[in-house]
Amino acid sequence: MGKNVKTLSDSFKFCPRCAAQNPLMEHERRLVCPHCDLIFYVNTAAAAGAFLLYEDQLILCQRALDPQKGLLDVPGGFIEPGETVEAGLRREILEEIHVEVGPLHYLGSAPNVYPYREVPYKTIDLFFVGHLDSVEGLIAQDDVASILRVDPFAVNSADVAFVSTRFGLALLQNFLKANA
Ligand SMILES: [Zn+2]
Repeated sequence: MGKNVKTLSDSFKFCPRCAAQNPLMEHERRLVCPHCDLIFYVNTAAAAGAFLLYEDQLILCQRALDPQKGLLDVPGGFIEPGETVEAGLRREILEEIHVEVGPLHYLGSAPNVYPYREVPYKTIDLFFVGHLDSVEGLIAQDDVASILRVDPFAVNSADVAFVSTRFGLALLQNFLKANA
C-alpha cells in the first residue's frame, strides 16, 4: 500500500444520510449511524486482470499512476456495474494496451486493497490467462506507462505492484507447468 492510506473509519466523519457526527465503521465493512439507523455496506469490489502470453513471453504493464506507480501489473481493472467480468476485463485490456483478446481462461482469485486518494478499497481480483497472436499493435495508454515482455518464471515479485497479482503470477506459473 502507498503511504498516507487511511482506514475506512478515518474516511467518514459524518453520516452520509443525516450528517450526524462520527458514524461507526464496523469491521471496516459497514458504516452504521445510530442516529438515523443507516447501515451502508462497503462491499468488496470485483476487479479482473489478464496474464497475456505471446509465444513463451508474458505481457506486463508498468503503471503510469499511483497507487504503485512504476511497478508492474497485468492489464485489467475494476468491473463496472452491470458488466460481466469477462466483458469488463476485455474493455480494460482494450483501454490499456489496445488489443482485443481471444479466449480467456479463469485461473483463480485473490483479495487486494487498492488505495486511491486515501480511501482503501477492498477488492477481489479475478485472474485469467490468454494468448496474443501478435504484439505489433500493442500501445501503452490509459494508466499504462509502458509494456514489457518477460519470462513468466523470471519476474521479481518485489517489482509486482500488488500482493494479489503476485498470487496470480503463482497461479499462472502452476498453469504453465501443468500445461507444458
Ligand atoms: Zn445518520
